[in-house]
Amino acid sequence: MVGLLTGNQQAIFAKRDQIMLVLRLNKSGMPQAWITPEEAAKYYCQGRVLFELGENKKVLRGGWNSLGEQSTLSLSSIIGCDGKVVNPMGRIPLCNRYLFRRDNNVCLYCGQRFKVSQLTRDHVIPKSRGGKNLWSNTVTACGRCNHHKADRTPEEANMALLAVPFAPNIYEHFYLRNRRILADQMEFLSGHFSAKRQWLENDIHLQQT
Ligand SMILES: [Zn+2]
Repeated sequence: MVGLLTGNQQAIFAKRDQIMLVLRLNKSGMPQAWITPEEAAKYYCQGRVLFELGENKKVLRGGWNSLGEQSTLSLSSIIGCDGKVVNPMGRIPLCNRYLFRRDNNVCLYCGQRFKVSQLTRDHVIPKSRGGKNLWSNTVTACGRCNHHKADRTPEEANMALLAVPFAPNIYEHFYLRNRRILADQMEFLSGHFSAKRQWLENDIHLQQT
């Protein structure tokens, strides 16, 4: 379930989920984008990579010269680049894909972990009562808990929330956007997380190359 994403966006996500992405930072170390190795190579070739923070390297192989030597380019998994600084906040919609990932696929009422297909978006203050569709008013809930809570607040339903819903900061946004984060990228991002979640321990997608 991917909420508000269009079919085209889903296809892009599916493709990008299969390859290693490079985390591009601006010159002050703020995340700007997840980019493909080919996109990162352009920054290297244009001399716009100011620093490298990643421990992982990916070697791209290029053409051959007359001596039979193949050119190679070593890419770091985290690069700081010169260039226009954009504010990437606000680009990420509140969609179920990110909401469930924020809550680690755990129902914030019963505390159990579910498959994505069994999860729903619950509005803490129900929409019918004026609750907004914001990160701070939405939590992951299993179908059973959501149905039981119905049109009530947690207090009225006597269903205490296990965690306070929060709007992800920029580093958490970048965590939510990439399902194949390398260990060094996760270490960099998680150092700036605003909220404590069991992401580091439980993230089944975390991988080391
Ligand atoms: Zn539940």
